Amino acid sequence: MIFDAARLPLPLRLRADLCVVGSGAGGAMAAMVAAEAGLSVVLLEAGELLTPADMIQREEAMFPRLYWEGGGRTTKGREVKIHQGRGVGGSTLHNLNLCKRIPASIRGRWAEERRLDRLPPATWDALYAEVEALLKVEAVPRDRWNRHNRLLEDGCRALGWAGGGLAHNRSGCMGSGFCEVGCAYDAKNNAAKILVPRAVKAGAQIVARCQAVHVRHDRGRVLGVDARALEPRTHRPIGEVVVEAPRVCLAASATGTPALLRRSSIPDPGGETGERLHVHPALVASGDFDEPVRAWQGIPQTYECTEHLEFTREDGHRSWIVPAFAHPVGTAALVPGHGAAHRDVMKRYAHLAAFTAMLHDRTAGRVRPDGELGLTIDYWPDAADRRELLHGLWACARLLFAAGARRVLIPTQPPRIFERGEPLDAILALDLVPGAMDVTAVHPMGSVPMGDDPARAAVDSEGRHHHVKGLWVADGSLFPSSIGVPPQLSIYALGMHVGRALSRATP
Ligand SMILES: Cc1cc2nc3c(=O)[nH]c(=O)nc-3n(C[C@H](O)[C@H](O)[C@H](O)COP(=O)(O)OP(=O)(O)OC[C@H]3O[C@@H](n4cnc5c(N)ncnc54)[C@H](O)[C@@H]3O)c2cc1C
Ligand code: SF4
Repeated sequence: MIFDAARLPLPLRLRADLCVVGSGAGGAMAAMVAAEAGLSVVLLEAGELLTPADMIQREEAMFPRLYWEGGGRTTKGREVKIHQGRGVGGSTLHNLNLCKRIPASIRGRWAEERRLDRLPPATWDALYAEVEALLKVEAVPRDRWNRHNRLLEDGCRALGWAGGGLAHNRSGCMGSGFCEVGCAYDAKNNAAKILVPRAVKAGAQIVARCQAVHVRHDRGRVLGVDARALEPRTHRPIGEVVVEAPRVCLAASATGTPALLRRSSIPDPGGETGERLHVHPALVASGDFDEPVRAWQGIPQTYECTEHLEFTREDGHRSWIVPAFAHPVGTAALVPGHGAAHRDVMKRYAHLAAFTAMLHDRTAGRVRPDGELGLTIDYWPDAADRRELLHGLWACARLLFAAGARRVLIPTQPPRIFERGEPLDAILALDLVPGAMDVTAVHPMGSVPMGDDPARAAVDSEGRHHHVKGLWVADGSLFPSSIGVPPQLSIYALGMHVGRALSRATP
């Protein structure tokens, strides 16, 4: 059953073999695996239950429902926008369905540096194969690439740069282009469509609009979770929910999980919890084309440029380039400037293509709890990462011109407009200080990095907490570094891995 905490009699006390916190890629998978293994499961989700009928394809209506802080979450000093989902299904409700495995070179380095004995390469590979089959991950056929993506392909071809098509987890996609505000056609093979129904069928109880605030523990053993039922509109607490459980699995995302661990004073001698956040920060360049691009139509992000993304060389470039998604409100927010200048750019909306360079970052950010329900994120790319971000932006501008743009807009304040033929080196010399340009991130990860050495890591390579028995982590927090590829496939895989381990373990 799926319940709405705001409609339940409060206060409420529940008992289960396992309490999972968060129903995104990691949490929904761990809950499904544990419920199907025979555990009684209560899953707490701060967001609401949304069905395809609720996805009304309006940015202004959907962002407040689908995203934390109405889509306005930022770092503490407002330097970086951090988009994260809330709702039964988490960020998989509105993500763009790209699926990629973490390169073997990164996984190999993790194994060496962090000791991941319970997650050998063969286990990773088997998990990936299983998740790809479960979510029907397939290459998007070339005849379904829209003009926006074909322009990126054109740019790569013209420059002789590496690129290729991407694989997605979608079936029966109409190509409406509304992925980022939820799918009205139920075409996303995501946590909400595939995992949650199976978890419920196996007996899991899902409590939506219920935010965990504290993990109960005593003398090194977990006892359950204290949570708050939330008022639907304001998200203010309206009553207490307590789940007593000998196992607790935190999957509240790479920001929510470390905040909960720290608020609950969970011991962590290595001090890594909430200290090593990576986010794949991104910059966007837009190109104005003579012919309409209509970037909002069709399947977003089916082509990638990997020319500037090196995984093996320490001094290689680290930018992953894809077309940036382009609804009108989002585009207007990204286009710098005001008044007539802004209007002039927006008048060209149908002719704009936008490419984004996401950074495989090394900067370590920080997450802290803020009061009973909030959290703060400290993150600003270090000097080396800022240089790489500008290099990525420069590469986006080159690709746009190579694809035929007549001018390229760099979103500084005021905007820098480069005409065709103008040298682009000035982009590399920009001063990327906070507020100079919109830096956006959609892939928080790495804030509770796994490792088998309890003196260093808080959780092991099965997500088991080293210092509190019965406590587990199953989300993007577990990555020991940035991964440089879209993370959901790997988080689903880790959710499966952790779900199996905690189902086997004695409480
Ligand atoms: C716009 C956008 C596009 C993206 N596109 C892609 C893509 O194409 N491919 C890809 O691989 N990745 C993509 N991502 C990222 C991907 O969706 C996430 O990395 C992934 O879903 C993270 O999984 P998770 O389990 O760590 O957290 P989430 O999926 O974010 O789930 C965490 C859940 O926990 C809930 N929660 C948080 N705190 C609490 C609490 N205290 N109590 C109860 N519940 C809580 C949240 O509401 C949320 O539902 C995208 C992200 C965004 C924002
Ligand atoms: S493009 Fe496909 S997956 Fe995205 S919202 Fe439209 S139908 Fe759904």
